[in-house]
Amino acid sequence: MTFDLIIRNANLPDGRTGLDIAIKDGRIAAVEHGIHAEASRILDAGGYLVSPPFVDIHFHMDATLSLGLPRLNQSGTLLEGIALWGELKPFLTPEAVIERALRYCDLAVSQGLLAIRSHVDICDDRLLAVDALLEVKRRVAPYLDLQLVAFPQDGYYRSPGAVDNLRHALDKGVDVVGGIPHFERTMADGAASVRELCEIAADRGLQVDMHCDETDDPLSRHIESLAYETKRLGLQSRVAASHLTSMHSMDNYYVSKLLPLMAEAGVAAIANPLINIVIQGRHDTYPKRRGMTRIPEMRDQGIVCAFGHDCVMDPWYSLGSGDMLEVAHMAIHVGHMTSREAMRFCYDAVTINPARIMGLEGYGLEPGCNGDLVLLQAKDQIEAIRLKASRLAVVRRGQVIAETPARIVHLQLDGRPNKVDPATYAPIEI
Ligand SMILES: [Zn+2]
Repeated sequence: MTFDLIIRNANLPDGRTGLDIAIKDGRIAAVEHGIHAEASRILDAGGYLVSPPFVDIHFHMDATLSLGLPRLNQSGTLLEGIALWGELKPFLTPEAVIERALRYCDLAVSQGLLAIRSHVDICDDRLLAVDALLEVKRRVAPYLDLQLVAFPQDGYYRSPGAVDNLRHALDKGVDVVGGIPHFERTMADGAASVRELCEIAADRGLQVDMHCDETDDPLSRHIESLAYETKRLGLQSRVAASHLTSMHSMDNYYVSKLLPLMAEAGVAAIANPLINIVIQGRHDTYPKRRGMTRIPEMRDQGIVCAFGHDCVMDPWYSLGSGDMLEVAHMAIHVGHMTSREAMRFCYDAVTINPARIMGLEGYGLEPGCNGDLVLLQAKDQIEAIRLKASRLAVVRRGQVIAETPARIVHLQLDGRPNKVDPATYAPIEI
């Protein structure tokens, strides 16, 4: 039998080493030691890590790469970012949104990021960004799974027209119901929006992913309503709560009651560490809060946790490069997740956990899964995060779709020319 692709001598995230992976007709056919067969292409992994692709569970593709349009965010706050986006919205064109989104998708693929859940703002009666991102979704489908969330950026009740626009966006094919209860005018309106939006999802058989409590206010407790409505409507395992930054500042007793409620309801938690640490705490003097939600405690409760990139070069964040290893790296620091086990968990939070939340079919490295994977210039997940390792090869359905040369440093010290793989500067076996 001739395979489409064989990768030899790979390490896998589960700790197995020296394995060969064979792909045929777009699917993984075998993962074994010593596959001796013909293939259209053979890659030598050389003992480096082969991982399932990265997955970004929280992004804003309609705003990405718009940095500086029409001006920069001076205060660095969420609210100025929303206001700035509001200034830009009337001047958006479908062509410009599509062009920026496609450019970002190219960047994502180069980083081994092959699935993205993006929120799309529906608070524009033209639904211009919705149409643009649906077009992008269609165009990138051969190489990237793009899932869209109908997101009422300016408030589901607060923004005139958002109630109708959200339904129209879902009618057009947007996949997931979004929300932003902490941005409604009152706590009561926020709670009512959670109820109504969950009912829409239940009626239509859709998932829910809300921006929930993205604030430092410890009394912002819409997650409680979201967990309650999830249970009441039988939406277990179909609901995700994004950000949850207020939980960082909540009373410990209250959280001890809240987390079991979330676990019971099967609500997933999505943190956005790069954005949480720069957007939250802006009204603090010292000490300044970090803002990221309580990931280690939620993990201990069995709550499914994942990390999103959220923003790249847009009104809220000037940096970012589509690198989910950078996201995991920041999460480790902000969440004090430095044990070996916790660092591996942070890797799962940008791969298998978000794949589960998105409901991606055929994701993984088992025989029968899609032939989608990334070869990294690192021996394991922790080294990949530490070095933000080069993506030597990105594979989609058995075809190599992006390649980056291995990073080799040429040292010339004391007249000793030497080639060094960055991973070998500090080799350590634990
Ligand atoms: Zn967001």
